[in-house]
Amino acid sequence: MGGLAAGLACARAGWQPRLLEQAAQFSEVGAGIQLGPNATRLLHGWGLERGLAAVAAFPPQLRVRSATDGTQLGLMRLGATFAQRYGAPYATVHRADLQRLLLEGVRQARVDLQLCSAVTGVRQLENEVLVRVNDGADVQGDVLIGADGLWSAVRSKVFGDAPPAFTGHLAYRAVAVQRDLPALLRTADVTVWLGPRLHVVAYPLRGGDWLNVVAIVQGRSRGPAQDWHQAAIAADLQTAMGRQCAPLQDLVRAMPAWRLWALHDRDPIAGAHEMVRGRVALLGDAAHPMRPYFAQGAGMAIEDAAELGRILAMAGSADIDVPAALRAYADNRWERCAQVQARSRRNGRIFHATGPMRWGRDVSLRLLGERLLDQPWLYEGPALA
Ligand SMILES: Cc1cc2nc3c(=O)[nH]c(=O)nc-3n(C[C@H](O)[C@H](O)[C@H](O)COP(=O)(O)OP(=O)(O)OC[C@H]3O[C@@H](n4cnc5c(N)ncnc54)[C@H](O)[C@@H]3O)c2cc1C
Repeated sequence: MGGLAAGLACARAGWQPRLLEQAAQFSEVGAGIQLGPNATRLLHGWGLERGLAAVAAFPPQLRVRSATDGTQLGLMRLGATFAQRYGAPYATVHRADLQRLLLEGVRQARVDLQLCSAVTGVRQLENEVLVRVNDGADVQGDVLIGADGLWSAVRSKVFGDAPPAFTGHLAYRAVAVQRDLPALLRTADVTVWLGPRLHVVAYPLRGGDWLNVVAIVQGRSRGPAQDWHQAAIAADLQTAMGRQCAPLQDLVRAMPAWRLWALHDRDPIAGAHEMVRGRVALLGDAAHPMRPYFAQGAGMAIEDAAELGRILAMAGSADIDVPAALRAYADNRWERCAQVQARSRRNGRIFHATGPMRWGRDVSLRLLGERLLDQPWLYEGPALA
């Protein structure tokens, strides 16, 4: 997501990006993604408004429910309310559809796209950066943007820090066609179920025809850490969840083909120096991987891409100071991304709370509802420096 968005933003800024993707073809896991107005506003600005409207769903509300007894704890209006408040909608979209949308934008912008091109080395010279591809030829450029995700090779080559750490949380994910589900389980809303040491999020995709469900439980990772697509069985999830309310158990039972994802993250970024080194900058999960409890990982990657495009558009002349431009990009991005990373961790603690903290959470949600759930600082988008 971040690489495609960055390619598009940089091409629109008048640069000639070359996208190097290790995979042989573009394909995404069968899972959904929520996009707040901070992200959809940028997609609209790139001319993708109609394309997004054709593939996304626009849930009218977000409901928070207790996983144990099913009661409603809080509600936030999305739909037209959100679109009016923030000037852009709250959308839910299949990852493959969002990828296809960005890919179309990239192709229209005539971005050079190279598949089967894994970056294996990076060398910075005074006036250029050389990227080794597939242990073979070097590709030369003015700037290298490492948008290569959680296990970023660019990050490990240039920054040399430790890999991301396992969070102790497992994400089980499944998608289904809504008409194949019992009528009571079909929904147009985003629903977040909060239980002790677990939470479950369900929302529609593809104009509401599909349903995406993610269940997060605490446990040990067994499969390969980098695999986003481990096969999982509903029985394991049911055991990990324990006894919850009947509608939630019904939902878990009804969803076909669960997949498992061991969640990893890093500490929130401590400064711009963690996002840029000379002519190399990081973007998206490579820079600031986060727990998905704010539904903003892809959103932050899209925001990064827009800011990169903005800075590079300003630095449009041939004799620009590339490291200074990248430094400005990182200066403008790191604090907001660090805040979202920290809030994502905090949300995890609140969502999975037990005992008095859980009681306090439920009371606050019942009393304050939308005032607690809405996040204007996030959805209004970043302040422009
Ligand atoms: C359970 C779960 C739910 C989520 N829900 C949401 C949500 O609702 N909303 C949201 O905004 N975010 C969500 N996220 C986060 C979101 O998925 C990520 O933040 C987002 O995918 C990051 O995009 P990226 O482009 O930085 O990295 P990736 O999507 O990981 O893309 C990295 C790309 O780099 C390529 N690559 C890797 N290494 C190399 C190499 N050496 N050379 C060349 N190419 C390489 C990969 O093949 C891949 O195409 C969720 C995450 C999880 C785990």
